[in-house]
Amino acid sequence: MIINISDLIGKKTTKKDIDVVLDSKSFSDDYETYEVLEPIKVKATLVKTEDMLSLYGMINGEIQLSCSRCLENFSYKLQLELQEELTNNPENKDDELIFINNDTLDLTEIIENNIIMSLPIQRLCKKDCKGLCQVCGVNLNKGNCNCESPDIDPRLAKLKGLFSNN
Ligand SMILES: [Zn+2]
Ligand SMILES: [Zn+2]
Repeated sequence: MIINISDLIGKKTTKKDIDVVLDSKSFSDDYETYEVLEPIKVKATLVKTEDMLSLYGMINGEIQLSCSRCLENFSYKLQLELQEELTNNPENKDDELIFINNDTLDLTEIIENNIIMSLPIQRLCKKDCKGLCQVCGVNLNKGNCNCESPDIDPRLAKLKGLFSNN
């Protein structure tokens, strides 16, 4: 979604409210594609001070993640704060700032980047997800298997081996 900010750049106004719903059905980072389950809503304000623009507000929505332990998809609620500094002055250019080189702003790109940055490294479908059996691959949230637990105390395993040899 492209936001026209010519009124801010042209100093006709110093503040602009943004209240939009992004039309993206999915977006991706280098590793994964995230399905959008509940449209991503952005309520924010753009404020211009000299050659800087501040964008702050809230992002809400719901996307699909896949669980780091059991690999099942689950829905993940998004509720995050948006806070970005932008500039259209090439002299201010640095990594912390988003550079705008005309009078439009690609809001979708900014929002998607913010969401991706906010995602936890370990994504769990639930706090106590039991994951997959490391031996047979069964989803242990859905049922048990007959494999021996791989994290059995190695000393006990040794003892057990001794007995079963007899
Ligand atoms: Zn899980
Ligand atoms: Zn198993």
